Order: sequence, then structure tokens, then C-alpha cells
Amino acid sequence: MANTIKLLGYTYTVDLVEEANEMRASGHLHTGKQVIRVALDQCMEGKISTLIHEVIHAITWHQQVEMTEEDLMRLETGFHSFLKDNNIDLTPLEKVVCGSKRRSSTGKTAK
Ligand SMILES: [Zn+2]
Repeated sequence: MANTIKLLGYTYTVDLVEEANEMRASGHLHTGKQVIRVALDQCMEGKISTLIHEVIHAITWHQQVEMTEEDLMRLETGFHSFLKDNNIDLTPLEKVVCGSKRRSSTGKTAK
């Protein structure tokens, strides 16, 4: 059914959107609804990196951490590299961002 991830005691639904153009970004976060949207029209590495990016947005939102988008992108790259370079099994995350499901969500989002 729904693709979900757990984060800080919350369950986030991961919405898969066909094209990044629809969001004008490869991902979006809706903090109020705990929804992360990931564009399908990118490679697996890109989808994982996008998921990490939105997870970092969610963490900073929940933990009230002020961070620029630029700094967040640096963290995304560093964290993704750490996971890959240490052969950490990303299969569970790959399953979350795999598929062609599409749900719609509206409201406040963060790029
Ligand atoms: Zn962002």
C-alpha cells in the first residue's frame, strides 16, 4: 500500500510523482501532513538522494534547526556519500522510492 518511512516518531508517507516538472523540484516536503514527494523521473541514486534531502528538511523542521537550502544540500550530498561509500544497505529506501504510484497532496511545501 502506501510507502512510508518512520522519522522521530512520525510516519511519513512517500508520494511518488511522475515528473519533477509537476513539483518544479525533484522532491517536496509537507510537514503538516507528514508527506514527502519524490519525482520518479530520475535515477535510483537521484531518488535516494532526494529522499535524504527531504528527510533532512523534516529533521530540521521537527528539531527547529535553522539551515539554508545550500547547507542542507551539502548535508544531503555528504550523508548520501557516507551511506554509499560504506556499503550500507539502501534496499529498504529503494523500495520506498520504487514504483509508479501517484497520489496528490496539496498545501504548504518546502523545496
Ligand atoms: Zn530543499
